Amino acid sequence: MLDLAIIGGGPAGLTAGLYATRGGLKNVIMFEMGLPGGQITQSSEIENYPGVFREDPPLTGMELMEPWPKQCMHFGLKHEMAEVKQVKKDGDIFKVITSSGEYDAKSVIVCTGSTPKKAGFKGEDEFFGKGISTCATCDGFFYKDKEVAVLGGGDTALEEALYLANICSKVYVIHRRDKFRAAPPTVERAKKNEKIEFILNATVKEAYGSDKGLEGIIIEQNGKEIDLKVSGLFVFVGRIVNNQVLKQDDGSYLCDLNDWGEVLVNLKMHTSTPGLYAAGDIRVDAPKQVVCAAGDGATAGMEALNYVQEKFND
Ligand code: FAD
Repeated sequence: MLDLAIIGGGPAGLTAGLYATRGGLKNVIMFEMGLPGGQITQSSEIENYPGVFREDPPLTGMELMEPWPKQCMHFGLKHEMAEVKQVKKDGDIFKVITSSGEYDAKSVIVCTGSTPKKAGFKGEDEFFGKGISTCATCDGFFYKDKEVAVLGGGDTALEEALYLANICSKVYVIHRRDKFRAAPPTVERAKKNEKIEFILNATVKEAYGSDKGLEGIIIEQNGKEIDLKVSGLFVFVGRIVNNQVLKQDDGSYLCDLNDWGEVLVNLKMHTSTPGLYAAGDIRVDAPKQVVCAAGDGATAGMEALNYVQEKFND
């Protein structure tokens, strides 16, 4: 019987494992279907994780995460390279069903993250990370005093456009309708911002550039094409929350989620199910930053430790 099963080996899962094992839990497995490190390993530069800044060449996400597994596993955390298919609860005990077998666990922390959706235009994959981004907080600063575009019309798109307007010289917001899904006060703030210009009833058809990166985008608006010369395009057309492991046989979920599928937690990362915690990008209101995911993981790891020791007198 595991004391704790951690699902996902990104910054949240690794840090949860560090805190739980260093705090005294003996039998802890982190199930990660790939190599530990999480989605930040795809990033070519990270400047906002405190304490490890490097200017030239910039620190890559892979370099940031490289020492984490060794440190986090030093205190007894084990890594099982397996995909978790489902987590169930029977009485006080969780059943973790994975591609390599089934495990019983006294507590579970879900840290499976979330994945930005793609818009599907030509060149989106080619220029991802070379001008196309899905995170203004992460990459906005690289476009200081430059013109950028934002694709999308929801809350995230307009909030990120406002954030970018603090840094960039101009922000074009491209939206396929003339009405917004975003909250009316956010829409009003964006409309009042002099640096933001709306291009409505429009879609991005193509991104183009060279091996140095993005140079512009072709927009289709009312049957006409617009060539917008921007070196940054931020795509916010929704996210896929990786909550499938929580889905039960009858279609319900093991704990409460919001309308977007994000796991509802309190400030201690407790879900609505006792002994089940969620940390990192999968949880409601996550800032979707490495430092925040690691902080969540630490909180969840300490809470799982307390729960197991109190509930099972360990
Ligand atoms: P993730 O890192 O997404 O880790 C989840 C892990 O769970 C993955 O490794 C996945 O393989 C695993 N998993 C999922 N489902 C299962 C399953 N069923 N079974 C087993 N394993 C599973 N943040 C910053 O702070 N600064 C930046 O500059 C920055 N830049 C970024 C650039 C890019 C290109 C990207 C993609 C992200 C960037 N981020 C940045 C965001 C940051 O990477 C995330 O906020 C952070 O990684 C979230 O950590 P997490 O542990 O919650 O989830």
